[in-house]
Amino acid sequence: MARVKTAGERATLQGRIIASYGRRHRVELPDGTRLDCMVRGRRRDLVCGDRVSLVPDGSGRGVIEDVAPRATLLYRSDSHREKLIAANVTQIVIVVAPLPPFNEDLVNRCLVAAEHGGMKAVIVLNKSDLPESAGARDALVPYEKLGYRVVAISAKRDVGPLRDCLAGVVSVLVGQSGMGKSTIVNHLVPDAAARTAEISAALGSGRHTTTHAQLYRINPETEIIDSPGMQIFGLHHLSIDEAAHAFVEFRDDLGRCRFRDCRHLDEPGCGIAAACEAGAIAPDRLAFYRKLARELTRATR
Ligand code: GDP
Ligand code: ZN
Repeated sequence: MARVKTAGERATLQGRIIASYGRRHRVELPDGTRLDCMVRGRRRDLVCGDRVSLVPDGSGRGVIEDVAPRATLLYRSDSHREKLIAANVTQIVIVVAPLPPFNEDLVNRCLVAAEHGGMKAVIVLNKSDLPESAGARDALVPYEKLGYRVVAISAKRDVGPLRDCLAGVVSVLVGQSGMGKSTIVNHLVPDAAARTAEISAALGSGRHTTTHAQLYRINPETEIIDSPGMQIFGLHHLSIDEAAHAFVEFRDDLGRCRFRDCRHLDEPGCGIAAACEAGAIAPDRLAFYRKLARELTRATR
């Protein structure tokens, strides 16, 4: 039962981390108030999207006392460190464009991260006003066949087609820089620039906030997290088995290999290789899987 608080004691509030800079976090309360918070103790793994309980100090600051268990956690990792991107996201929106050419390896990695993390994935083809977009559309057909929704937009003209796939969910926007992610966010959130400036001032991070994720609540059910542009997406935290399961089209055939510990690289009697030969798995996806699996084998050695 809740204890009655004595004068001077402050109530614990629930909030959401909307941006983090080192150990400093900008937290938004349900009524829209934003506080600059530090974390009690040594915990350093808090991230944008985390639901926290905090004690305000009455002058716009607060201390985070606890973090709620996360429904999901999106992160990337190389051989020596993990980089948290966002917590409690239900959907990853992968932004690509015809120009500059998008990196298919990165798209595949984002899809693997989404499947592994239990998040839905959507691919947005931006700059569809450009003549080069026909080729990019063709390149995305195989992903559509796998069941991933592809939404073509021109952020410069209209982000409308994207709105209904964002409605009612918490999405994180990911992509290489130059694909038009900032343009999309600025259209979805008209005061995005002002909010970024506010966060930079509050966290004293100057220009550095652009290197961190930022959460925008569009309405009570719809939130988007803008993540910094990336060129690489390390998946060193996955085991080979987890990686194979993150390829949606492999799942039916994973039990068909001769060896139970088959890595689907060059083992005889591999069910995945057979499915590829039979045309059920695209050679490009198997090639990408094998590249990833070799990377993970080296990492665990
Ligand atoms: P970010 O690095 O992903 O945040 O990309 P920006 O939003 O900064 O956009 C990169 C460049 O692409 C800018 O010059 C934008 O004006 C341009 N751009 C963004 N969206 C579109 C679009 O829909 N069509 C065209 N033609 N250019 C766009
Ligand atoms: Zn196999």
